[in-house]
Amino acid sequence: MPQDIQCDLAIIGGGLAGGLIALALAARRPEVDVLLVEADTVVGGNHIWSFFASDVDPADRWLVDPLVGHRWPAYDIAFPKRKRRLDEAYHSIRSERLDTLVRAALPPARLLTGIRATDVSPTAATLADGTRIAARAVIDARGAGDLSTLDLGWQKFVGLVVRTDAPHGRTHPVVMDATVEQIDGYRFVYVLPFGPDRLLIEDTYYSDSPDLDRQAITARVHRYAADHGWGIAEVEHSEAGVLPVALGGDFDGYWASGGAAAKAGVRAGLFHPTTGYSLPDAVRLATHVAALPDPAAPDLAAATRDRARETWAGRGFYRLLDRMLFRAAEPAERYKVLERFYGLDAGLVGRFYAGRSTLLDKLRILSGKPPVPLMAALRVLKETRGPQGESR
Ligand SMILES: Cc1cc2nc3c(=O)[nH]c(=O)nc-3n(C[C@H](O)[C@H](O)[C@H](O)COP(=O)(O)OP(=O)(O)OC[C@H]3O[C@@H](n4cnc5c(N)ncnc54)[C@H](O)[C@@H]3O)c2cc1C
Repeated sequence: MPQDIQCDLAIIGGGLAGGLIALALAARRPEVDVLLVEADTVVGGNHIWSFFASDVDPADRWLVDPLVGHRWPAYDIAFPKRKRRLDEAYHSIRSERLDTLVRAALPPARLLTGIRATDVSPTAATLADGTRIAARAVIDARGAGDLSTLDLGWQKFVGLVVRTDAPHGRTHPVVMDATVEQIDGYRFVYVLPFGPDRLLIEDTYYSDSPDLDRQAITARVHRYAADHGWGIAEVEHSEAGVLPVALGGDFDGYWASGGAAAKAGVRAGLFHPTTGYSLPDAVRLATHVAALPDPAAPDLAAATRDRARETWAGRGFYRLLDRMLFRAAEPAERYKVLERFYGLDAGLVGRFYAGRSTLLDKLRILSGKPPVPLMAALRVLKETRGPQGESR
């Protein structure tokens, strides 16, 4: 039955970003009347989101700690010429937990699931059944907008959570195992041990193409397990992703393509240019919105745009590195860029993933013998132009 609903703040899209804003407001600003609309029947979809401890400021931990299902004190990486354990804690969140906490935080009438918004504006939304929502402000958190204004490579993957038929013996996550055959760009396998006989095994590609051959990649996950002596008793869960890796592009064009409402998450362009990961930014935006004098103020759209634009502008260095990776390195040699990167100190690596590299970090990353052909690297630098020092 169509209804007319009024609220202070309507969040359209109950994925990672929308769910975190709803949780942050329920915890810190219970006086704000929030409505969350999600097309799926559950909040958060079917995801496992992971992050490094240094991705989240200690002051923001209150928001993510109740969501974390697994925590490991350190993680491993493996390349043909470098194996290393980094003493940086790694965390994982299952989307089911986000669903549970959002349902507990919002009054039942303030969470609408299983219904799509068909129209979203800065102060109103219309749902597929004709329901009209009038709000003091609307946040659009419906996931990626029109990516065609951006110059992109892709990080794509298929992951399986498996139960092994015997203890697998892994205690720490392997964030990158690039000792595997290099196919379709930079390839690595990502392994999270969720228990003595449970593993997430994810086969990942930094590729020029977003095309994902799910069947072939799933077969490679099985082969990787077999190569490590892990018999698979059961596949409990599978997930796939094709995430944008930003090489450059027109932020304002991307923002405008998503409509005039306030935005959050990938829809706001808030993702790490190199990893496509958005959790650190989503946490920062959620706690920021919850700390605003009026989280549903009429200027919320401009405030989120300015914040996202500033974040984008501050990340030109990562997009330059992405161009080096995609344009200067031969696809089969891309792993060497990451192999060299992981020789740098753990604090620098942590700041890189958090999108908070210092000037010294940047100089360290760029200094020394380049792992890509010098002429090709110079060509990428020479092509660099535009308002943020980037080519399209
Ligand atoms: C399989 C996978 C694993 C990932 N792992 C990580 C990770 O480990 N760490 C990390 O930081 N990032 C990860 N990412 C990348 C990124 O952080 C996630 O995609 C993240 O979920 C993006 O958050 P978001 O809120 O912007 O979009 P989403 O989480 O996709 O949320 C958008 C929501 O909007 C809803 N929606 C869309 N249209 C409508 C509509 N018309 N009306 C109502 N609702 C609508 C969707 O159903 C969805 O729930 C992963 C991505 C994938 C696909």
